[in-house]
Amino acid sequence: MNKNKLLLGGHVSISGGLHKAFKEGESIHCTAIQIFTKSNRQWHAKPISSEDAELFKNTLKNSTIKSVIAHASYLINIASLDDDTSVKSRDALKDELERCDQLGIKYLVLHPGTRGVAEQKDSLKRVADNINEIYANNKIQTIVLLEIMAGQGTSVASRFEQLAEIYSHIKFKDKVGICFDTCHAFAAGYDFRTKETYENMWQDFDKILGIDLLKVIHVNDSKKDLGCKVDRHEFLGKGKIGETAFKLLFNDARFINVIKILEVPIETIQDYVPQFKLVLSLLSEKNLEPIKDTPLAILTK
Ligand SMILES: [Zn+2]
Ligand SMILES: [Zn+2]
Repeated sequence: MNKNKLLLGGHVSISGGLHKAFKEGESIHCTAIQIFTKSNRQWHAKPISSEDAELFKNTLKNSTIKSVIAHASYLINIASLDDDTSVKSRDALKDELERCDQLGIKYLVLHPGTRGVAEQKDSLKRVADNINEIYANNKIQTIVLLEIMAGQGTSVASRFEQLAEIYSHIKFKDKVGICFDTCHAFAAGYDFRTKETYENMWQDFDKILGIDLLKVIHVNDSKKDLGCKVDRHEFLGKGKIGETAFKLLFNDARFINVIKILEVPIETIQDYVPQFKLVLSLLSEKNLEPIKDTPLAILTK
C-alpha cells in the first residue's frame, strides 16, 4: 500500500496521549511521524495500558499517516563499559522496545552511546552484546535502528565502519538496521554536497554496511561545518549542507521506501510546513507524481 509513496514527516509530540501524535502530524500534512513513547529525559514511565495501545493502533489505522517510528531516550547508553550504566540502559532499551511492540511500531531509533574512557572497539562490542541479550531473552518484534552519530565528545559509531563492527557482532541480524542522520554524518566528516561526493558516500555505505540496512533517514541540515563533530541541526537549506544534497537524496530511487523524518529546530509544529514545501519543490516531476493522493499534495499548490 505504501509502495512508492513519499514517507515524509517530522518529530511530533505525544502530550495529551500517545494517539494525539497523529492529529499533530496530520495538521502539518505528514505521511510519516516520529515520536518518543515516553519522556525522553526520564528513565521510567508508567506502562502503556492495553486501552491506550488499542486507541493508538486504531488511530493509525484511520489516519492519513502511513508510518510511525519511535526514537529512544537520550539517557540510554548501551555502549558504556560501566556495568551499572550498561545494565540500566539495557533494561531501559528493552522497556522501550516492548512499548513499541505494544503500539505496533516497527522501528525504534537508538543513539549507540558514549564510550567515556573505554576503547571504541570495546564499546562497539558492548552495544552488540546488550542488543543480543535483549533479543535472546525477550520476544520482541520491533527492530532497533542504530543511528550514525556526529562524533561529538566520546560518542561512538560516527563512521560506517564502526556501525558495521557493531552489526558484525549482532546475532539477530533481522532485528537491527541503520538510521542515517544527514546532519550527524556531515558533522562526522562525510561530504555529500555534490553529485560526485554523494554517489561516493553511498557507494561506501553500501560496501561497508549494505543499503538494505537503511530504514530511516533523519533529514536535517547542519549549523556547523563539515567534520566539526558538533551536532547542531538546522532547517533544510539554511545550513552548511545545502539544497543540492537534499535534492539528490529525495530523488534517489534507492531510498523511495525509506522513511524520512525532519528534526529541525522548530518553535511551533507549523514551522515544518515550509520545510515540507521546500522538499516537494526539490522533487522531480516523476517523483512528485506518487504523492498525488497523499496529504502532502496540498503543499504543492
Ligand atoms: Zn537521534
Ligand atoms: Zn542530532
